[in-house]
Amino acid sequence: MKKEEAVMEKIISLCKRRGFIFQGSEIYGGLAGTWDYGPLGVMLKNNVKALWWKRFVDTRDDMYGVDAAILMNQNAWKASGHVAGFSDPLVECEKCKKRFRADHLEDKKKCPECGGKLGAEKQFNMMFKTNVGATHDENSISYLRPETAQGMFVNFKNVIDSLHPKLPFGLAQIGKAFRNEIAPRDFLFRSREFEQMEIEYFVHPDNWKETFEHFVGQVHGWTKDIGLESAHVHELEIPDGDRAHYSKRTIDFEFDYPFGKKELYGLAYRTDFDLKAHTGLSKVDLTYYDEDTKERFAPHCIEPSFGVDRTVLAILSDAYTEDELGGEVRSYLKLSPNVAPYRVAVFPLLKNKPVLVEKAREVYAELKKVFGAKVAFDDNGNIGKRYRRQDEIGTPYCVTIDFDTVEKDAGVTVRNRDTGVQERVAVKDLVNKIG
Ligand code: ATP
Repeated sequence: MKKEEAVMEKIISLCKRRGFIFQGSEIYGGLAGTWDYGPLGVMLKNNVKALWWKRFVDTRDDMYGVDAAILMNQNAWKASGHVAGFSDPLVECEKCKKRFRADHLEDKKKCPECGGKLGAEKQFNMMFKTNVGATHDENSISYLRPETAQGMFVNFKNVIDSLHPKLPFGLAQIGKAFRNEIAPRDFLFRSREFEQMEIEYFVHPDNWKETFEHFVGQVHGWTKDIGLESAHVHELEIPDGDRAHYSKRTIDFEFDYPFGKKELYGLAYRTDFDLKAHTGLSKVDLTYYDEDTKERFAPHCIEPSFGVDRTVLAILSDAYTEDELGGEVRSYLKLSPNVAPYRVAVFPLLKNKPVLVEKAREVYAELKKVFGAKVAFDDNGNIGKRYRRQDEIGTPYCVTIDFDTVEKDAGVTVRNRDTGVQERVAVKDLVNKIG
């Protein structure tokens, strides 16, 4: 087994063992390309989404949130170009019948599994098709959205008419997207059901370049917020001819995953492609009138697109650490406190000493007032075991209440996850220490 594969296996196994992420429908043998988040995974993922919303929506005056339906009128996908062209090249092995994405193969003639001959390349549309209502005909066709973006374009006029924002402004949305990937792989990296955090930012056509640069900076700022190593995030300028049909400029932000350098996020200059396309098919005017310049035009759009699950995987890959502490080998998650499921865990030194348990419960309740659900209480097993458990789930600090705490009012011990160093801290200074 290659080293990178071994690391991925260790991350996947930690995720299952500690309740972060499970295989989708596992008791039925799974469903390829689906993953279920467990209790700790949900906490990590919710932290990511809340942090994103805070950076890109709550702390800005120029962003508006929307939460559009996953099912949309099929015309939305005709106008966007997805019905005609949202496809990947597919090849099938004539011998073992396995199917592959042709652009991911080194040898497009030979099956990588059985060595058999591969058939001709076909285009495979990746949208999940369904029917809405009791009749199954052409008119009832709909799709599970393959991106959240179109839910924002079709609501452009609603937001303009209801809130009257002035250009430039953005619409932001977090939600599920679905793609019938030919070959889901690499854990959360390429799945069939995933989540996106997207922004459609509308500008005057003359101003697209500075907005594009602004979002390049924002993406880097964001990756620092979530604790990714800057040296692991790379920009890839996508050349003419390789970009999506709607884009005049695209930068992919790639990340050094254990299985290689792969796309984490995309930033695209979508021009006025989408608003014009929707105006064309819906016959609804999606232009903007500038009261100051008396100019009417279709705004141009810059789209930063963030995959939630690729973010979670990048965070886990960067955080997974093996080292030696106190002569013992350990593996743990060196998560940023911004995203860690728990900021702090509180322990009574001994489970069967009511005086310790009572004080620990008191400290726990105080910390919860500040950190809410991000405080854990653990009295199970010896202290060493509890430290290892918290290290593995990435809790930055552990607070232990011992006899000196209650008998001498000598504060508590605070242990640092990364260094293992313990220090005595007065209870009143705890919040500052944990920060
Ligand atoms: P790729 O080339 O890897 O298939 P893409 O260029 O098609 O990705 P976009 O259409 O730009 O991806 O989607 C925007 C973002 O959504 C991606 O940057 C990624 O974070 C996320 N994403 C796309 N497809 C998947 C998937 N199958 N599983 C998980 N996340 C995905």
